[in-house]
Amino acid sequence: MSTRRTKQLREEVAVKKLALARDKGCVARWYVGTQVNDTTVPACFGRLEKDEIVSRSRGGSPTDLTNVQILCAGHNVWKEDHPTVAVALGLAKHSWAH
Ligand SMILES: [Zn+2]
Repeated sequence: MSTRRTKQLREEVAVKKLALARDKGCVARWYVGTQVNDTTVPACFGRLEKDEIVSRSRGGSPTDLTNVQILCAGHNVWKEDHPTVAVALGLAKHSWAH
């Protein structure tokens, strides 16, 4: 593994710790049972993971605390499956411009 990649991973671990301290759990837990566009937000499931609000593929930073949130594994997958609802709830953004 390259030195650069190692540094990046170390920064990501540090940011995850900060995000966990700030969010104190899955941020989607506040929306469980909320109905948006005929979709009901499911209950939390699985381990807590670091998630990017603006995804890496859209240019979001994985090491910027303002772009990082904590989601459980279940809501991480759910967010991928329901991008429109995730954006409506503020769990995802298409880009910094919106
Ligand atoms: Zn959750």
